Amino acid sequence: MNGSRDRQEPASRKAEQRPSDSKKEGRRVRSCDAEKSVVSQEVKAPLSNKVISLLEPVNEFVEDIQALNSAGFFGWNTRTGEVTWSKVTYEIFGFDAASELVIADVYKRIREEDVSLLREAVEGSAQEKGDTDLRLRLILPGSSVRYVRVCAHPERRDPLSGRYVGVAIDITSSALSELELNASRQELARKKRPGSLDEMGAWVVHELAQPLSSIVMNGHACMQWMSTGIAGADEAKDCVQRIVNSGHRATDMIQQIRRLARGEKPATAHASVNEIVESSIDLLGETFKQNHIICTSSLAPELPAISGDRTQLQQVLINLLSNAVQSLAEVGDRKRKIFIATRMSEGKEVLVMVEDSGTGFRVQDLPLMFSRFFTTKADGMGMGLAICRTVIEAHRGRLWALNNAKYGATFYFTLPAST
Ligand code: ADP
Repeated sequence: MNGSRDRQEPASRKAEQRPSDSKKEGRRVRSCDAEKSVVSQEVKAPLSNKVISLLEPVNEFVEDIQALNSAGFFGWNTRTGEVTWSKVTYEIFGFDAASELVIADVYKRIREEDVSLLREAVEGSAQEKGDTDLRLRLILPGSSVRYVRVCAHPERRDPLSGRYVGVAIDITSSALSELELNASRQELARKKRPGSLDEMGAWVVHELAQPLSSIVMNGHACMQWMSTGIAGADEAKDCVQRIVNSGHRATDMIQQIRRLARGEKPATAHASVNEIVESSIDLLGETFKQNHIICTSSLAPELPAISGDRTQLQQVLINLLSNAVQSLAEVGDRKRKIFIATRMSEGKEVLVMVEDSGTGFRVQDLPLMFSRFFTTKADGMGMGLAICRTVIEAHRGRLWALNNAKYGATFYFTLPAST
């Protein structure tokens, strides 16, 4: 802290004043080490050698304590602008204790962005007679940065005297750890999102492929029903409804992807898992039909609601069902079946299972199946299961897979019941 500013100056001078053009900032910083350190600089009476020798051990003790805590004391008289520093304060600010300093030198040590912090604190504490607690960055010779916490308050024995006492603490190591921690938190948040443009592109393509192919498929079916005339009117209407739903879903997904890319949390609302399952089965109705798949379900009545993002959870089901459809594409010697069930698990969670009678997966692929870009399909993208896991984990649930005893695989996920 410095007492370099003239407290009587009008406020209009404040903005113009720079360290170099201030007369007050030309004031000297005085050392309070050696025989002066524990005696106020205001004490003008000469001290006898005896008193000095008595004070010396006390002074050394005080210096030791300061060095041990990387904390240097200072005094500041806001009336005279006089500042007194201990040896450790000189060290913290990177000055030689023997050097002749003026306040402008001190300001030059402070990083440009922090100079105004100090100025405002000096102004504020001088006017309000209050405490000051600041964090400053110093640029030391050799350009290294030192973080300093500066605390000061009015002298207790005479708070109206305009004299302040304070401490400057070197907090570089804790400030750097804090910065590192923040950097690694940001990195973690970044990694949770689709990182590179390739990854982002793959995500978008994967998520939009399904509603687009559903639109095309339902469009074709609609045209067929319409060509049968009045007899196919209801079916054609259903197809158009599915086209509209798929269009809405594509729009919702684009918004979801934008949110995920920005690292935003899913929008949560109470939702019914059974309703999400039913709407997903409905959306894929035409796909099941065209692939000769029998899709059945057993949905537990009175399931508790879950709290989550309906669009994202529907996307999980659609990804799992689309994978089941693809696995069944190779099946010609048995019925192509998908079975979906919901029930309450033991731990107050809603459990969803999607079972197919397809090819199943290779056991050695299991550890990789949920990773981005892992695929065993010639035209696969390896994004579906990775997206599913990201979404389920964001909803505080779990997702896993097992091969069935005979044919095919079953994928399970849980979601905590909303309270
Ligand atoms: P993609 O479908 O593009 O390959 P996914 O992430 O959805 O990407 O799936 C990754 C891999 O997991 C698939 O390539 C496949 O090997 C396996 N897999 C996913 N679902 C099933 C399933 N129902 N049956 C068998 N294997 C599956």
